[in-house]
Amino acid sequence: MTQQNPLLFAVGPVAMFPETLRIGSQPLPYFRTGEFSQLVLGAEADYLRLLNAPDGSRAVFLSSSGTGGMDAMVSCILGPEDKALVIDGGGFGHRFVELCRFYGVAHEVLTLEPGQALQPGMLDEVCMDGFTALLVNLHETSTGTLYDLNMLSAFCKKHGLLLMIDAVSAFLCDELDMAASGADVVLTASQKALACAPGMALLALSQRAQAKIHATPQRNYYLNLVSALDNGLRGQPPFTLAESVMLQVAQRLRSLQNGGMEAERQRMRENASFFRDEILKRPFALFSQNPALGCTALAVPEGVSAHELFLVLKDEYNICVCPNGGALRDKVFRVGHMGNLDRESYLHLLDAIDDLKRRNLL
Ligand SMILES: *Cc1c(COP(=O)(O)O)cnc(C)c1O
Repeated sequence: MTQQNPLLFAVGPVAMFPETLRIGSQPLPYFRTGEFSQLVLGAEADYLRLLNAPDGSRAVFLSSSGTGGMDAMVSCILGPEDKALVIDGGGFGHRFVELCRFYGVAHEVLTLEPGQALQPGMLDEVCMDGFTALLVNLHETSTGTLYDLNMLSAFCKKHGLLLMIDAVSAFLCDELDMAASGADVVLTASQKALACAPGMALLALSQRAQAKIHATPQRNYYLNLVSALDNGLRGQPPFTLAESVMLQVAQRLRSLQNGGMEAERQRMRENASFFRDEILKRPFALFSQNPALGCTALAVPEGVSAHELFLVLKDEYNICVCPNGGALRDKVFRVGHMGNLDRESYLHLLDAIDDLKRRNLL
């Protein structure tokens, strides 16, 4: 590539830190060794610590994108006796619905409008006959909407449901405490706030989730969670791991210990609030009723195409914001706050937007 890398405001992969890039450039060690096992076991403990997971929780690392983790959640944890309530407020909620359909898991869907927050009372309107689990994307990334974890947690405790959280874009950004919320499953992926290369899904599992996995016939050969848990006891994956990504993830999880996560969250908060204050002085509106920290979804003014805006910023300014698809393609785009971004990055984006206004493209 002759061109300088674009300034990246996507919501995954995100701008990586120099130390992560350095690890990605190193030769790979053989991984069926005691040393590699120690690295994996250390990463497992570090991930669980960042989530404040209760004693007895476990985590597994799957070589897949985040969707592989969602796939394993549905196919390996839920079985013929289960019935799931799925919160569907956008593209990622809809993916859980499709997975339930695909694997024949009984389910009902609570559908929200794109960008709509979860309101008190919405959950209580569902007739709760026979439900065993709740599937939710804590941050519905397609619209930048955060759901109320306290509400979800109280609801699952009241009805004895497994609380299964896709936190792919919430982890490190939005508050998420496994012990306090009673979450049973927490999924993230390497390319979001962990700011590593894509290729790894991380699943934290409460004791209750592990028992459920062992009691459920496994329907997924490659992402078999019984096998992942058993092999993981000795710090080994069943198959060749996305090793380079694992090394990056392990380093990041370690560097986020002892206040590192709080510092990173604070930096993201400052960036997001600076950007939101500034962008709202321009002709854009927040699309979400309850914006998550990881990205800001913006509605564009009448007569402007959000997708065109994405193309112009990419092709003429070397800035990559995150386009939307489907019905929101021309109405909404997103600006990420995860990864290696600072005040300068946002000033640069705002300058470009002001230039578009000067050129009457806005
Ligand atoms: C990014 C993301 C995923 C995973 O998508 P992949 O492309 O499979 O990595 C899943 N859920 C949410 C909420 C996400 O933001």
